[in-house]
Amino acid sequence: MSIKFYNTLTKKKEEFKPINDKTVKMYVCGPTVYDYFHIGNARSFIMADVIRRYFEYRGYDVKFIMNITDVDDKIIKKANEEGVSSDVIAEKYTKAFLEDIEKLGIKRATINPKATENIQEIIKIIEKLISSGIAYQLGNDVYYSIDKFSQYGKLSGKNIDELISGARVEVDENKRNPLDFALWKGAKEGEPSWDSPWGKGRPGWHIECSAMAMKYLGDTIDIHCGGNDLIFPHHENEIAQSEASSGKPFSNYWIHFGFLNIDNEKMSKSLGNFFTTREILDKYPANALKFYYYQTHYASPLNFTKDGLEAAKNGIERINNTLQELKYNLSEGKEGNYEINIKEYEDKFVEVMDDDFNTPKGLSVLFELIKDINVCVSSGNLLKIENINNLINFFDRILNGVFGLNLSAYKNELSDKIISRFKEKRETFENIVEQKIENYDSENISKLINHLIEVRKEAKKSKKWNLADQIRNELKEIGILLEDRKDGSTIWKAE
Ligand code: AMP
Ligand code: ZN
Repeated sequence: MSIKFYNTLTKKKEEFKPINDKTVKMYVCGPTVYDYFHIGNARSFIMADVIRRYFEYRGYDVKFIMNITDVDDKIIKKANEEGVSSDVIAEKYTKAFLEDIEKLGIKRATINPKATENIQEIIKIIEKLISSGIAYQLGNDVYYSIDKFSQYGKLSGKNIDELISGARVEVDENKRNPLDFALWKGAKEGEPSWDSPWGKGRPGWHIECSAMAMKYLGDTIDIHCGGNDLIFPHHENEIAQSEASSGKPFSNYWIHFGFLNIDNEKMSKSLGNFFTTREILDKYPANALKFYYYQTHYASPLNFTKDGLEAAKNGIERINNTLQELKYNLSEGKEGNYEINIKEYEDKFVEVMDDDFNTPKGLSVLFELIKDINVCVSSGNLLKIENINNLINFFDRILNGVFGLNLSAYKNELSDKIISRFKEKRETFENIVEQKIENYDSENISKLINHLIEVRKEAKKSKKWNLADQIRNELKEIGILLEDRKDGSTIWKAE
């Protein structure tokens, strides 16, 4: 079986055939670092990450390049507004970008090249395009002549003649074709600039990606990704520049991510209808946001709602509860002879994910498995220890490995919450356990809860029903539910 997915270039679903056996050369358009990125950008970054992770799970070695656009009109504008130089802005938001990526639990790229560190490579491509008559100089600017590239429009499927007649006459009326785009922009007062054969200036946005993709991955790459908004003109222009300069196909496959919308409008900085990733991560665990995104296919639009995000958080808790339960049975050595056929689920998972990285279906397979486990456990059909170990291992490979849902980190966040709730009711609990709550932290909180369970058990034995009830109720109030089992044990779940 092999992975197949929708290729924007051929407009059909195709089987993936790598250039080199078991290696994927993948390039993703990264952020323009002029502000904190919003959760629309995050959707593209998260879905690119899950595709990378899935290739790795299927045994590929992925070379994952995500550029950082650190010279751009928007950066210059922000720098002028704040009265600082544009590298101050670019550095600040590059750092913030990397921090947020880490908080999201997105794997670091193999390399995050910066446009400003690749100026010489950019200049070389432009020189080549000029010498072969594909680019031309106008004053201190250099333009790409789209008429010289017969396949212009092949990615977006745009009707170029229509675009030309619809194009507004641009600033530079001397352009040969209104759709010709800048490869190099002559320096203006107060802008960052580099020396070049055409005088001081800076690169256009499109050429940056061509140069960095080819430098780090070679003339022909396997997969190029980005949000839907980049198909035209950005990716169309990348193809024109790269293929005209190298004479080879640029990228064999193109993957585009659907927009994150809000009130059915694209979330974007310019519309002002956005949440930054930072502000969302202050209120929700990264896992909830990722889980929320995985519930929709990467290519479809997704309308963001906080209710949807809340529901995703509950979904994560359901998975977590089952995992806790399995780990509890393991730690208590609770052995049965029931066995779940994990391979059946894994095969199904691979089947749905191989078909265009269908994460919503992938999650459904996991939930079927969770249902199966819960049915077993609640009907008293305990699993074999080896089976439990294999299940834990399977969940780890899928949830942590493919989906990047770091469930142990989530548990710590939950534990921190539980501790603070215990502290709010310090007196009550200190009276019951006759110990200081201060002695507990997120690492050993389960000890305190198990101790309370013991005290309750003793209370029941000596018929102190009020105390037993009080323990159950107080715990319930802080979100910890006790569940008594047929075998006389009690387990707890946190919400
Ligand atoms: P930018 O920093 O604007 O260049 O965008 C970085 C990445 O985020 C690009 O791949 C964009 O296509 C993508 N992107 C921007 N807005 C959205 C959105 N609302 N939904 C999904 N992806 C987006
Ligand atoms: Zn790009």
